Amino acid sequence: MPELPECEANRRRVEDHCLNRTIEAIEMGETSHMDLPGDNARGQLMGRQFTETRRHGKEIFAGSKTGPWITVSLGMTGSLRPYDAGEAAPDYARMTFVFEGDRRLAFRCPRKLGWIRMIDDPDDWIAKTGLGPDAMDIDRENFRSVIGGTRGAVKSALMAQKKIAGIGNLWSDEALFHAGIAPDVRADRLSQTQLDLLFDKMREVLGLLLDANADYNHIPNSWIFPHRDEGASCPRCGGTIARKRVGGRSAYYCPGCQPRT
Ligand SMILES: [Zn+2]
Repeated sequence: MPELPECEANRRRVEDHCLNRTIEAIEMGETSHMDLPGDNARGQLMGRQFTETRRHGKEIFAGSKTGPWITVSLGMTGSLRPYDAGEAAPDYARMTFVFEGDRRLAFRCPRKLGWIRMIDDPDDWIAKTGLGPDAMDIDRENFRSVIGGTRGAVKSALMAQKKIAGIGNLWSDEALFHAGIAPDVRADRLSQTQLDLLFDKMREVLGLLLDANADYNHIPNSWIFPHRDEGASCPRCGGTIARKRVGGRSAYYCPGCQPRT
C-alpha cells in the first residue's frame, strides 16, 4: 500500500508532467467506480489548469489558487500515471484527465480502493478530515507527546493517520526495526530516549525513500524490508525474523534486535 514516499513519488510525476495545461476532457473508465467525482463536479474542472500540487500524509492534491482542487487517495494499489496520446494508456485507468495537446493523466486503480474527490481547499480538507501532521513535518517535541501519549501498540500509533499522517505497514516496521523497538510495545511505556530514537529512525527511513523516489532497488540490505519473511535471517544479528498481528496488520520484526522492554 502506498505510504508517504510512494505518494510523494506520484505527486512529483503530476508536478513534473501535468501542470499549467488546460483540462479539455475527463474520461471515465469502463467499469463503474463509485468513489470518483460525478458529472457536475467534473464539469467544474473543464477549461481549468492544475498549477500546483501538494501532499499531506498519503493524500495527493492538485489544483490552483482559484480552485477547485482534486484530492487523491491511492488506496492499496492506485497510482497516478502521466502519459502522452499515442502511448499505450495504463490499464485499470478509472479516470483520465485529457489536457490540451497530447498530455494525459490516468488514475490507475486496479482494486478500486482508492478515490478522487473534488475539494475547495487542501488546508480546509486536512482540518475537516482530522489528519495529523505529515510524518516529515512533525517536530520532535510533538512526536514525543503524540506517540508517547498513546496507550496502544507503538506500531498502531505510528500508523494512525489522525496522529501522524503518512506511515503504513511497511515503513512503521522499518522505523521500529532500526530503533530496536518491538511493534507491540505500548507506546506510552517507551522512554524519552526510545521515542527520540524512533523519531530519528522514522525520518531516516522516510528520507532515504524520498531521496530514492520510492525506488525499492535503492533500499539497503541492512533494512528489514528485503527480509520480510517469517523465518528469514535478520540482517543485523542473524536471528530469525518473526511475524505478529498488531492492530490488525502483519508486523515483521526481529525479536532479538527488538526486545519487548
Ligand atoms: Zn536481529
